[in-house]
Amino acid sequence: MDTNDQKSESGLGRRDLLKVLGGVAVANGLGASTWAALELLVPSATADTWHKSVCRYCGTGCGVLVGMRDGRVTDVRGDDLAHNKGVICVKGSMLRALPYVKGRLTTPKIRRDGRLVDATWDEAMSHVAQTFKDAIAAGGPDSVAFYGSGQLLTEESYTANKLFKAGIRTNNVDGNPRLCMGSAAAGYTQVYGKDEPPGSYEDIDYADCIFTIGANLFECHPPLFERVQQRRRASKGTRLIVVDPRRTRTAEHADIHLAPVPGTDLLLLNAMAQVICEEGLLDTSFIDKHVRFSDGQNTVDLAAFKAFLEKYKPEAVASELGIAAHQIREVAFLFARSRATTSLWTMGINQRTQGVFLNNMLNGLHLITGHIGRPGATPFSVTGQPNACGGVRDTGALGHLLPAGHVVANEGHRRKVEQLWGVEPGTISDKPGLDAVSLFRAMGDGRVKAALVMCTNPAQSLPAADRYRAAMEKCFLVVAEIVEDSETAQFADVLLPAALWIEKEGVTGQGERRYQLIEKLMDPPGQARSDLDILVDLADRLGHGALINARTPEDIWDEWRQFSVSSMYNFKGMTRARLEKERGLQWPCPSEDHPGTIRRYVAGDDPLVTNGSAMEFYGQPDKKAIVFLRPYVPSPEHTTEEFPFYLTTGRVLEQWHTSTMTGRIEELAKASGDAVIEINEQDAWKLQIAKGDSVEVRSRHGTLQGSAQVASSPRRGVVFATFHDAKLLINRVVADNVDPISREPEYKVTAVSLRKVGT
Ligand code: SF4
Repeated sequence: MDTNDQKSESGLGRRDLLKVLGGVAVANGLGASTWAALELLVPSATADTWHKSVCRYCGTGCGVLVGMRDGRVTDVRGDDLAHNKGVICVKGSMLRALPYVKGRLTTPKIRRDGRLVDATWDEAMSHVAQTFKDAIAAGGPDSVAFYGSGQLLTEESYTANKLFKAGIRTNNVDGNPRLCMGSAAAGYTQVYGKDEPPGSYEDIDYADCIFTIGANLFECHPPLFERVQQRRRASKGTRLIVVDPRRTRTAEHADIHLAPVPGTDLLLLNAMAQVICEEGLLDTSFIDKHVRFSDGQNTVDLAAFKAFLEKYKPEAVASELGIAAHQIREVAFLFARSRATTSLWTMGINQRTQGVFLNNMLNGLHLITGHIGRPGATPFSVTGQPNACGGVRDTGALGHLLPAGHVVANEGHRRKVEQLWGVEPGTISDKPGLDAVSLFRAMGDGRVKAALVMCTNPAQSLPAADRYRAAMEKCFLVVAEIVEDSETAQFADVLLPAALWIEKEGVTGQGERRYQLIEKLMDPPGQARSDLDILVDLADRLGHGALINARTPEDIWDEWRQFSVSSMYNFKGMTRARLEKERGLQWPCPSEDHPGTIRRYVAGDDPLVTNGSAMEFYGQPDKKAIVFLRPYVPSPEHTTEEFPFYLTTGRVLEQWHTSTMTGRIEELAKASGDAVIEINEQDAWKLQIAKGDSVEVRSRHGTLQGSAQVASSPRRGVVFATFHDAKLLINRVVADNVDPISREPEYKVTAVSLRKVGT
């Protein structure tokens, strides 16, 4: 099978797309003057066999083909038959190097006299089990915790959730999806009564207006960016609007780029809604049939919604927002008047103290204009991790959740889940578990005495990192890791070697409700085990082996599939045999002959729509979606004379998250380089800072030093840094204020000072 010559809709071949999406940086990083350098990164076929799989990294969830020879990965290519149509980014193209990165952890280790020393699995797991038992005996079940990841496989998160909530009887199960998508999940749930996006990536192919806010698709979700560009090439009138305080590589391609002051963009969304009301751009027919308005407490009418918006007239908010009133009006008009509008957003919206309100309003703009449920018309929260949706949101592996949209706080839900799990009524605690930030605080004050951390790197990824690194030192920390020297591994009392990607098997659920199977193609190095095997071992040692009766990925998937039947997440039709054959399936998918659901809530597509209407928001009791009246509240992080700049953080194309994996792949590391402090050129001039100078960044939460990059891309008063680089560890200075509903931290807004400290 050779996909090299496959042309995309844009007429570009796969390698051309790689060049477009990532090749420039890679070639530059290698010091190459020609594109030939890229060919070194994408070797010609050297494989004996090719296997369908899924990229290990981001929530785009690209289908890939893995080429193998003599038990080793020799090539990875985009899968033309998958949803990404063969397009992958430079990270995906370098997947072939992932299993072989330097520093793989191959032996369990126990901390003795301050040093991690080799141990047997039995020694390590006995120590873990005994310490957990002692902590539970002394302080009760809530003195232990599980901190997981949107990168664990679905079967692993499902098993951890069941073990801790129904076995140990604590709801202290949370994970890094809280840090990136908590606000999106809460936003959808409030509006539709159910989590997860109503639309699909396919909607990009039909949109006439693509409204991108708080998302840098070019660098973070390149195949989606390419899809946007393909749509624009195919349909010349399609407009791309980008809202971002930086002129990102996505914004460079926009028809309109709006750069708000960080933390203010609820003003923009409310002002757009005000213009839509004032100019008669509402879809009143859609509203009458499918929408209810709420002030958060009570149902209100459309007149109350209009009255609420009066104070958000563009002229009233322009100054604080930093965007001219006429631009707000223009964007509102384009959004509402297009034939089909797709909104795409991610961490810039979610990682905010008003993240849920922002998500509410983005969905609300679609509901008041009727831009939902048609091809090209959808509000779409793009996700960052490969299995945050399927593995964590859907399985309910967060402190307040239970599987398939059930919640801890609801007694009926607890009884139902207990029955499905075959445990006694009353087994599941009625106390919601600690959210991520609260969980690490509880480690610091001794409430949580022992915790199992899997597949994530909180010592680098948490905001106000020093605060939580200190907390980790006080807790008995068990860390399952792929490498021996991640930031979090430094705090481990027991370090367990974990398998990654195709060294184990299971299902992942990417950002458009698509479940895909990753099959095991090779053995992990040394003594490394899958996270599932570690969890099953722990269950046995804690005396919960009977509860965790499904122990293989296939058996667990079948149990979870059966569980889903009783819910609106129904995916019973996604048998393992189908997932082996097909390029993923989107739920709902209740039967084996169902093709999966591209557009939720739409009759004829979504099998759960029952009443014969064209659309039905069946997650709400009255089947109507809710448009909320959401007042803007300024961020607690505000600039002052002492802290006159806003710091905002993000990613680069070549690195993924904290770069535990991609940072060890030489070509990617060379291409991205080290993280720098990006400063607006006018600000730099005023502070006499030049490129390469050493600068101090200080906030109310920490201080660090880094190398300056002077650029025109951030708006004046904004400083930017990527969080992939542990040497800079920008999260040391990032604020840890959280959204009061989603408990997601506001990574995107921190007031800082800047000072040149060296040249
Ligand atoms: Fe696709 Fe994301 Fe992997 Fe790139 S990192 S190939 S966009 S899944």
